[in-house]
This record gives sequence, structure tokens and C-alpha cells, in this order.
Amino acid sequence: MNKDKSIELANLLKEAYPDATCSLNFTTPFELVVAVMLSAQCTDERVNKVTPILFKECKTIEDFANIDIKKLEQLIHSCGFYKNKAKNIKLCAKQVIENYNGEVPHTMEELTKLAGVGRKSANVILLEVFNIAEGIAVDTHAKRISNLIGLSKEKTPEKIEQDLIKFFPKNLLKDINHLFVWHGRNTCIARKPKCDICCVKDFCNYYKNLKNIK
Ligand code: SF4
Repeated sequence: MNKDKSIELANLLKEAYPDATCSLNFTTPFELVVAVMLSAQCTDERVNKVTPILFKECKTIEDFANIDIKKLEQLIHSCGFYKNKAKNIKLCAKQVIENYNGEVPHTMEELTKLAGVGRKSANVILLEVFNIAEGIAVDTHAKRISNLIGLSKEKTPEKIEQDLIKFFPKNLLKDINHLFVWHGRNTCIARKPKCDICCVKDFCNYYKNLKNIK
């Protein structure tokens, strides 16, 4: 794989998934911070069922900081890991109020200092809210697809992200983020990838090995 081929690959994915966008619903930067936190080990679909009621209850960042923890736990219970997530949401809201004047910061360094926000979440927030393409959010789909296609042999999201950044120009990073998720959900499905109908099979090491193609 080289840079030209990876751009070709991205364009094929774009043709296949023209509607690929962030599937989490939000209307403010902090709502996305919360939605991304809730989406850890949970589906976006489930998060989108929980957030309308949560965001009605917590309209401002101060509401998130001040909500009774038991009430918050109850509201987000179905997203899993609710105790930890509730604790992080409240603490993160307090940090944003106290350290950033109530505005979600927009650098990787500042975002990853917030409770419950790792590099993957920070990448999503930077891309979706601020349109800053610092990197690629490597989730389970991006990890699997990068390994299968042969874009990265690495196993950790941080190292895979560094490999992917070498292949894709900045203007494609946001798309890649969504395209891998959509491809993973629709075609390159974890337990049963639909290789025969895959639009990027000609680029994929896994497929070539499967079919014994040189
Ligand atoms: S060819 Fe198969 S393994 Fe490779 S990206 Fe497509 S679906 Fe995934």
C-alpha cells in the first residue's frame, strides 16, 4: 500500500458509503463529549436512545456538573459502566467550567487532560466539533480493518493511528474515521466479513491471502 493507493481506497469507500457521518446525536460541544464517553463499550444506537432524556435533564454544562450522581447513573444505566461514566461526566463538566471557562477546549493536549477523555475520544471531538484533523479515532472497526487490509500491523490504537496518518492526507482524516466505522458495520463485519461484495477487496491483504492472489 502506498499513499496513492490509500487515497484510491478512501475514494472507493466514499462511493460505497456517501452518507458516512458521525452517528452520535448532539447539539453542543459538551453534549458530544458526553455522548462519546457514553459510547465506550456501547453502541451509538443505544447512546442515541439515552441522550435525548439526559440532555433534556442537563441543558447546560453546569447542570452536568451539579446533577445528583445517583440520578445521572440511573439516566445512563443502559449504556453500561454507568458508575464510572457518571463519575467522569460530572468531573469532566467541573474541569471544563473551572479550567476552561465553560468552553470545551480544542487541543489534543487539553482534551486528553479531561476526565474520561482519551486520545480516541479527543480525535472525535476535534474532528466533529472543531473540524480539526489531528488524527484518526481508532476504534474497534478501524483497528480490525487496518490490520486486515494491511495498513497497519500494529495492535494498539495509538500505533495504528500513527500508521494510518502516514497513508492518508489531512483532508481525508475525518472521512476515514467515519468510513471505517461504516465499512465495519456494513461489510467488513467482525465475525463474518462479506469479502466477495467488498468494494476494497483488491486492496486487502486478508482477501488476497484468502484467494491466494499474489
Ligand atoms: S476484503 Fe474482506 S476482510 Fe478485506 S476489507 Fe473487505 S470485507 Fe474486510
